[in-house]
Amino acid sequence: MSYQRPKGTNDILPGESEKWQFIEETARVLFNDYQYHEIRTPAFEHYEVISRSVGDTTDIVSKEMYDFYDKGGRHITLRPEDTAPIVRAYVEHKLFGPEYSKPYKVFYIGPMFRYERPQKGRLRQFHQIGVEAFGSDNPATDVETMIMALEFFKQLGIQQLRLVINTLGDKETRENYRQALMNHFSAHEDELSEDSQRRLHENPLRILDSKDKADKKFVAEAPSILDYLSEDAQSHFTQVTAMLDALEVPYEVEPTMVRGLDYYTHTIFEIMNDNPKLGAQSTICAGGRYDQLVEELGGPDTPGFGFAMGIERLLLVLENEKVELPALHKLDAYVVNIGDFTNVEALKVTQAIRAAGFSADRDVMGRKAKAQFKSADKEGAKLVLTLGEDELNAGMINVKSMASGEEKRIALTAIYNDFTQIFDEMI
Ligand code: ATP
Ligand code: MG
Repeated sequence: MSYQRPKGTNDILPGESEKWQFIEETARVLFNDYQYHEIRTPAFEHYEVISRSVGDTTDIVSKEMYDFYDKGGRHITLRPEDTAPIVRAYVEHKLFGPEYSKPYKVFYIGPMFRYERPQKGRLRQFHQIGVEAFGSDNPATDVETMIMALEFFKQLGIQQLRLVINTLGDKETRENYRQALMNHFSAHEDELSEDSQRRLHENPLRILDSKDKADKKFVAEAPSILDYLSEDAQSHFTQVTAMLDALEVPYEVEPTMVRGLDYYTHTIFEIMNDNPKLGAQSTICAGGRYDQLVEELGGPDTPGFGFAMGIERLLLVLENEKVELPALHKLDAYVVNIGDFTNVEALKVTQAIRAAGFSADRDVMGRKAKAQFKSADKEGAKLVLTLGEDELNAGMINVKSMASGEEKRIALTAIYNDFTQIFDEMI
């Protein structure tokens, strides 16, 4: 019997994990520059936290939850996304209090869980990087946050980016629009997919997000939300587009874009990469404004804006665009040691180099010199230090610079006293 990982999950192995670290580090540095600070919430939550926020009629809640009852009978779910958990934490820790900065800005990096049909760029455990900003209803927050997301992808070297925006307006807007959608889709009720027939009565906005081919035809003919905006909603959206124009950020308005989560209000956006290889999974980042969510989860009336991007999809885009990311870490020094007799001294030398602040490795497999040199080369060692019985008896070690080919016999005491000087001289 041999085991395999669960369907829809991945092992991120060395060689690949360096790319993840690079992406995560790029995000950390950029987001910190925008004054976002890291938050880490649990991998599981009370079911209600997600169902109330994301919405019972969404695919995420109705089909994709990894939920279960724990041994104490609590209804728990692995988190399918992190906005709802972060809002829960924001309310629970009263982060709206006067001692906290406003807007209160956090970012997160971590695994999310959705029971989906696995395919390229669609997993059951996937990873998101995202941000949330609480407390600002200024359209400038929408714009600077979207620009930060674009900047992140640019820093990673992605060229083909498309910013697509829409507005879902406020309550008044959505009530009016809901009625318009009801009227439109009711006329074709029998031709809609089974899911959408149900959505028509529960939440007709959800039909716009349908991936069903037959539905898509009626979605294309659906009324535009832009014709139903309240005065407030119109004003917010006009300011967002005016600011994007002022900053010369290209964007497209897509009036049938709704997103798969119920909590959004006003501005929503997606960043797409239109490489045909990604197929339907072309959205690498998505987000928007959620001005009612904090109140919905028991906090004070607080606007919010955020986005999430999928790391696995981002990696596919980077691969398609042939962007080179750092692979394995390079090594400063490799200690080749020949014969059992040198084992202890090789350990001492390697540790001394590490203690001096350099990366170092050595052979511990008792291999022949030739195989050890091969390892040194594979690990990208800049210096190779060779310790044989002769050298050891003489209190010396052989040091070779791999770049220049220069070789020197150096006293072991010099390695112990000042490896930095030797390194600087030879590299
Ligand atoms: P989709 O329409 O592709 O299902 P979504 O609307 O469900 O996406 P969000 O919930 O907004 O996506 O999540 C934001 C981002 O997280 C997506 O743009 C995508 O990059 C990534 N993502 C979402 N679900 C998955 C998944 N199952 N596997 C991998 N990445 C995912
Ligand atoms: Mg989805």
